[in-house]
Amino acid sequence: MFIPHESATDLVALIHSGDLTAVEVTTALLERIERHDASLQAMLRVDNQAALAQAEAIDARRRRGEPLGSLAGVPVAVKDNMCTRGEATTCASRMLEPFVPPYDATVIGRLREAGAVVIGKTNLDEFAMGSTTENSAFGVTRNPWDPERVPGGSSGGSAASVAAGFAPLALGSDTGGSIRAPAALCGVTGMKPTYGRVSRYGLVAFASSLDQIGPFGRSAADVAVLLETIAGHDPADTTSVDVPVPRYSESVSRPLENLRIGWVKEHFGAGIGDDVAAAVREAIRTYESLGASVREVSLPHAKYSIAVYYVIAPCEASSNLARFDGVHYGMRTDEAVMRAELDDERARLEKAGDERGLADMDTAMVRLYRKTRAEGFGPEVKRRIMLGTYALSSGYYDAYYKRALQVRRLIREDYDRAFAEVDMIVGPVTPTTAFRLGERVDDPLSMYLFDLYTCGANLAGLPGISLPCGFDGQGLPIGLQLQAAPFEEEKLLRAAHMYQTATDWHTRRPELA
Ligand code: GLN
Repeated sequence: MFIPHESATDLVALIHSGDLTAVEVTTALLERIERHDASLQAMLRVDNQAALAQAEAIDARRRRGEPLGSLAGVPVAVKDNMCTRGEATTCASRMLEPFVPPYDATVIGRLREAGAVVIGKTNLDEFAMGSTTENSAFGVTRNPWDPERVPGGSSGGSAASVAAGFAPLALGSDTGGSIRAPAALCGVTGMKPTYGRVSRYGLVAFASSLDQIGPFGRSAADVAVLLETIAGHDPADTTSVDVPVPRYSESVSRPLENLRIGWVKEHFGAGIGDDVAAAVREAIRTYESLGASVREVSLPHAKYSIAVYYVIAPCEASSNLARFDGVHYGMRTDEAVMRAELDDERARLEKAGDERGLADMDTAMVRLYRKTRAEGFGPEVKRRIMLGTYALSSGYYDAYYKRALQVRRLIREDYDRAFAEVDMIVGPVTPTTAFRLGERVDDPLSMYLFDLYTCGANLAGLPGISLPCGFDGQGLPIGLQLQAAPFEEEKLLRAAHMYQTATDWHTRRPELA
């Protein structure tokens, strides 16, 4: 047995039976992180002692004969935009570098109740804005399949840590594709649940009408266990929906009968790589051979989803990030330096007799905000704040934000029509496999286009899952996306598991240097 490659389900069984201790599991994974994370940089922070203490507590419970949770002793890596009590939560931003939350996010609380070991916090694009994890203020995460390439983003650290065997499970967040895309690029399974399925209390908000927390694992069966643990109504998040959570871990192995799948012509248009298109087509044939019926469905407004997403997401981000000003939240610029600069400027204006300049001098407070935000945010976050502020400003609101909301409704209606005919839509996750580090950092538009197949589900509030369906000519993983109607996660998990019993793409592991 090689612990870093074991599934969460097997680890739980072995810990429950006493064949393995939680400390043995955590130790093995901490050693693996120690060995390989210097080159991959998937983890932002790992506190060995804290992780081992959680594992020891599980082992002690077992020795005392106390009941163990459904994830007892299983290490879970957590994206660093979810609050962990007493441990830094930075969103990979200088702005939140000093932030130590006094509380746990609801999902973290649920993990702890289930006996999971929070093994560390993972790297991300700053405030989850990006598609490659290159926008982190604390370094770039590399793809375990090829360290010269991006792991995808923004939950790149979580996806890479599961692929590299640092943890069998991880949490990410998905606003426009940030779980599904890195899952595809790293060859793991990741799900964005329905908007409202999982509480976001304690998730640092990026775009509140789109954000959703979700699970990563190396199989649909493992993802099912993690989703079951974190899902469900939470009074602390008014957008979380009060509907029962199915026992995904029990139903996942039941194949679906009379499955009707749809494929979308628009998904195979310009921009998709040949290898990706071929692998997705082959996956559709696999479903046919498993008894599914296949038909074409149309999402005529899907072509607007990038444009709509890149209005709505920045608008909401500009509003959510307004609180990080050095007074209400976040780091504060060095006030002594700032005061000295202010004094210098005042002296200069006084000497020049510049009455107007003196009158125009910002108040110390505005200076403090401005300087703090200039220092605390990276370039992509600033770009989003400027885009969003512009689109929301009077005179432009109707032309951009309001229009985007209208088209968003049409996108949702396309999906409603499609799901009246089929159970799920099968397609690609990303247009291409992992590209080289640095290749697109100076080209925001091509970066944004990478979300072409994923951001529709966020705009419509639907669940989507990404699972491995092959490799390209360079040995890089390709992802398959399944999307379903709201709250149909069970269907997606069962369909994904069906595929994973018929294929072995999800069992391939990268060789780490
Ligand atoms: N790539 C998208 C963006 O940059 C999605 C990010 C996300 O889902 N958090 O906004």
